[in-house]
Amino acid sequence: MTTHHSWLDDVRPNPYADQLAMGFRGLRFARPLESQYRLYLQEDSFDLKRIALSVGVLVWLAFAGLDLVLIPSLERWWMLSIRLGVLLLLLACGMLMLIRRHTHLLVPLSLTCIVAPGLGAAAVVAVAHTVDQTYPYEGLLLICMAAYFLAGLRLSEALASSLVVLLGYVGFELLSGLPVTRLINNVLFLIFGNVMGLVGGYLLEYKAREHFLISRLMRVLADRDSLTSLHNRRSFNRQLERLWRQAQREHRNLALLLCDIDHFKAYNDCYGHQAGDNVLRRTGGVFSEAARRPLDMAVRLGGEEFAVLLYDLSMEQALQRAEELRLALAELNIRHEGSSTAEMVTMSIGVACMRPADGGEFSQLYECADRALYRAKALGRNQVV
Ligand code: GH3
Ligand code: MG
Ligand code: MG
Repeated sequence: MTTHHSWLDDVRPNPYADQLAMGFRGLRFARPLESQYRLYLQEDSFDLKRIALSVGVLVWLAFAGLDLVLIPSLERWWMLSIRLGVLLLLLACGMLMLIRRHTHLLVPLSLTCIVAPGLGAAAVVAVAHTVDQTYPYEGLLLICMAAYFLAGLRLSEALASSLVVLLGYVGFELLSGLPVTRLINNVLFLIFGNVMGLVGGYLLEYKAREHFLISRLMRVLADRDSLTSLHNRRSFNRQLERLWRQAQREHRNLALLLCDIDHFKAYNDCYGHQAGDNVLRRTGGVFSEAARRPLDMAVRLGGEEFAVLLYDLSMEQALQRAEELRLALAELNIRHEGSSTAEMVTMSIGVACMRPADGGEFSQLYECADRALYRAKALGRNQVV
């Protein structure tokens, strides 16, 4: 199966787009993406696992009822005690799964919820076959299907657990003394059923992985500026509102650096729009270096306007960061003959730093920084106000 998305070339390089273009026939992504996918799968398959477990317990109880009807001899007590043991194990696993703290145990617990009833059912069938060789063994296939389609497992995990169940079944039947021709017949049926599960499971996982990559890519495209890969204005507005509220709660400062490249129209006129784009890209690089802490954010607001949002800094620190930023761009030393301010590309920066008061609006911070930027321009550009 290959992915034909001709538009991917327009958004590369990007890890999600790169992986989509490269394909993933082996149902495995490159390193960091693979662990991201597994985390996402854990979160995403949680409800499915809960439903599957509830259905599984009900079916298990129904089969226990059938045993009482189908097997009249003493053996049924053996069968029922195996079923009871498995039931208790399923309930214990279910409880541990419901406690969300144990997310790292989610995969082992899900595997247990397949392998335990699988081996339990294999043992029950083998015990029944010692008294009635026509006792249905096909229920084992239901458990394998649950592994492929219901338990939220990856295909490799589903296959491994189904193989364990199949091998367990062969072992128990050999012990129970089922005639070999009958055993071969049963095992072939189970193998063919598993092949169906394998093909269906492959297609499903392929599509699930594709969906993961595309949805993550969409998120990046919606929140990032395509020229510089910095956050865009939409993403900035969201973060500003969020950080404003957090700063209100935690009584911390929030600083905003509004930056505007000086005489950029003249740069375009002198060197062309393409060269202008290159300057914006290189400026973007300077900005992405400026927001390294998790809550900080560097943004291209649009055109030649950038911003940096800094959490929990004093006014002096914010001013210092702005000055470093201004110097970092100047030190790129990009010649600008059309500038009446300096020989190279420079920017003006307006800084605002506030401790949000209760009931205050986050637009205050923006307006304050905007006024400071206006003054920086009026005072001759290439400076921090
Ligand atoms: P000032 O020093 O007052 O900021 O002057 P300025 O020329 O930088 O500001 P002005 O707002 O007059 O012009 C901004 C220019 O930025 C105009 C526009 O051509 C250019 N620009 C906006 N977006 C892009 C872009 O994506 N690529 C390029 N190359 N230029 C852009
Ligand atoms: Mg401007
Ligand atoms: Mg400008």
